[in-house]
Amino acid sequence: MLTAFARKSWYANYNLRPNLDEIFQKTYREMRPGVLMPEFRVEFYPFANVNNTIRLGDSRVHVRISDLLEGAPDSVIEAVAHILLAKVYRRPIEVAHAARFRRYVSSNDIRAKTHLVRQIRGRKRIQSPRGIFYNLEQIFDRLNVRFFHGLLARPQMTWSQIRSRRRLAHYDPAHNAIVVSRIFDHFSVPRCAVDYIVYHEMLHLKHPVKLRGSRRCVHGPEFQAEERLFPELEKAKAFLNRL
Ligand SMILES: [Zn+2]
Repeated sequence: MLTAFARKSWYANYNLRPNLDEIFQKTYREMRPGVLMPEFRVEFYPFANVNNTIRLGDSRVHVRISDLLEGAPDSVIEAVAHILLAKVYRRPIEVAHAARFRRYVSSNDIRAKTHLVRQIRGRKRIQSPRGIFYNLEQIFDRLNVRFFHGLLARPQMTWSQIRSRRRLAHYDPAHNAIVVSRIFDHFSVPRCAVDYIVYHEMLHLKHPVKLRGSRRCVHGPEFQAEERLFPELEKAKAFLNRL
């Protein structure tokens, strides 16, 4: 059972559900009546967590849905389509859709699957979210509610193995992990500095870029505008500059 599941999920499965495009087209039509329908490329993708991404290309909309949702009922996929399209076209997310998605993701079945997949995909160099002073998972969850309506799927959160002063934090898409340098797990580090670092990486989750190697870090205008919304930005940056 474990082996079968692991093998099935390890590879990107393109359109195992034939109606994926239809669901996105229908949702698009409802949201943008009368606007030319783009071409959708929707695929299930082996994220290590329940993560879903959307990207507007020149003529296509590229969507990746976590393969953990492969067996989800149409209503849940519809909710995902609504949330992703609302995000990308800047429409309000309907509460009913957000609730349906959250409910499904927090159900026991999907939680067990997530746990299993994390064990399989995440065993490589993942340390722990719990430091001595700060718990990165708690920080992520708090920021998620405060700034992202709780809509970001939490990746693996981990303190770095090495106390790096050069690389403060990064998002590793291959392992769907946010890694934060262990130097910040210290009593002398103000909470706003750790919050800001995690917030920055969460913006990378929200604004995915085409990655060539895991080190690429792109901060477009939208990214920067949203970063300026962080309330204690000056204080946090001042601390980081003193490092
Ligand atoms: Zn960055």
